[in-house]
Amino acid sequence: MTTIGVLGAGQLGWMLALAGYPLGFRFHFLDPVPGSPASCLAPQKVADYADQAALAYFARGVDLVTYEFENVPVESARFLERRLPVYPPPLALEKAQDRLIEKDFFRSLGIPTVAYRAVQSLEDLRVGVEEIGLPALLKTRRMGYDGKGQVMIADEAMIDSAWETLKGAPLILEAFTKFRRELSVLAVRSASGQCVFYPLVENHHREGILRLSLAPVPDLEVKLQNTAEMYAARVMEALDYVGVLAIEFFQTDEGLLANEMAPRVHNSGHWTIEGAVTSQFENHLRAITGYPLGAVAVNGWCAMINLIGSVPEFPDLLSIPGVHLHWYHKTARPNRKLGHLTMVVSDPEALNAMLRQVGEKLLLHPNNGGWGAWVKELLFHE
Ligand code: AMP
Repeated sequence: MTTIGVLGAGQLGWMLALAGYPLGFRFHFLDPVPGSPASCLAPQKVADYADQAALAYFARGVDLVTYEFENVPVESARFLERRLPVYPPPLALEKAQDRLIEKDFFRSLGIPTVAYRAVQSLEDLRVGVEEIGLPALLKTRRMGYDGKGQVMIADEAMIDSAWETLKGAPLILEAFTKFRRELSVLAVRSASGQCVFYPLVENHHREGILRLSLAPVPDLEVKLQNTAEMYAARVMEALDYVGVLAIEFFQTDEGLLANEMAPRVHNSGHWTIEGAVTSQFENHLRAITGYPLGAVAVNGWCAMINLIGSVPEFPDLLSIPGVHLHWYHKTARPNRKLGHLTMVVSDPEALNAMLRQVGEKLLLHPNNGGWGAWVKELLFHE
């Protein structure tokens, strides 16, 4: 019986465990926040990710370690790696945790990105704006997620205030790209080098947070899929990667630009639980335990809607045949991902109709506060 140690016990860990029990795996989680979502399924060690005594204790109770949170300190992953297998490799964490290192890494592999400059001072910022132009985004290099740690610079008058907002942390200035749409690829590589790729996903964000994913991408061209797979394969080869890797792209008139990667299962892959022959969670577990990877064919046209900030009326949503609910056992807070819905249907028209129905439920019910604007904008194209 293999016991898998997971750093992080959030919803990704919870879904990893749900996928792993049918395969006979056991789980232990480590997370500093008591009562995290995955703790209702398996023991959780409550400790800081940097607490080496806790890590050593944790390592004694498991056969291998993975993570569901990409900001685990690299030193902690390396500390564990000296004791037992750790997948994906800590080098992937190192590359993904710093936006500058990540973009340099993409470029070194011939993967295009937006134009960017490292910023250490107000002077660097002024020179960067001169070189890459406006509008641009100033971002913290580390610990940014869901749109946090980012300031838009639309015109020169905003340079000083952007600097005042973010100064003190290492920064990166990125050209603001007018993308056609945002896509992501979910790739899986096993220890033996076997790779599989799910079809590209179309992602819709608001305020930097993923709201809706559509899979496969409507009007997916083979060439686009091949390019995304080629880029993902290059990243995975370079890192001797094992597990699921997600890369987020901007699709522009010049082709795909890599925005960022996540060395873990990813929110834009949640639809695979009902929508693909093998889910991203199961394939991650198969990869890290040395099992053959599962088929990634898609069962139809899929959509995933994140339930963010407020608790919707479950019976209302579940009254739509074919809607699946995943609820993460988290306390509601503004902008917090609390759960998601998945829909899988046989044709794109039926998917549109179902999205409309879900949108109406989210909008109309009196308890569904906080859903208005983005639901209208995304699902009704108004
Ligand atoms: P990130 O934290 O880099 O994933 O950014 C969150 C979201 O902000 C992305 O999914 C995009 O919608 C938007 N965004 C980030 N960087 C850029 C950029 N350089 N140009 C245009 N939009 C961006």
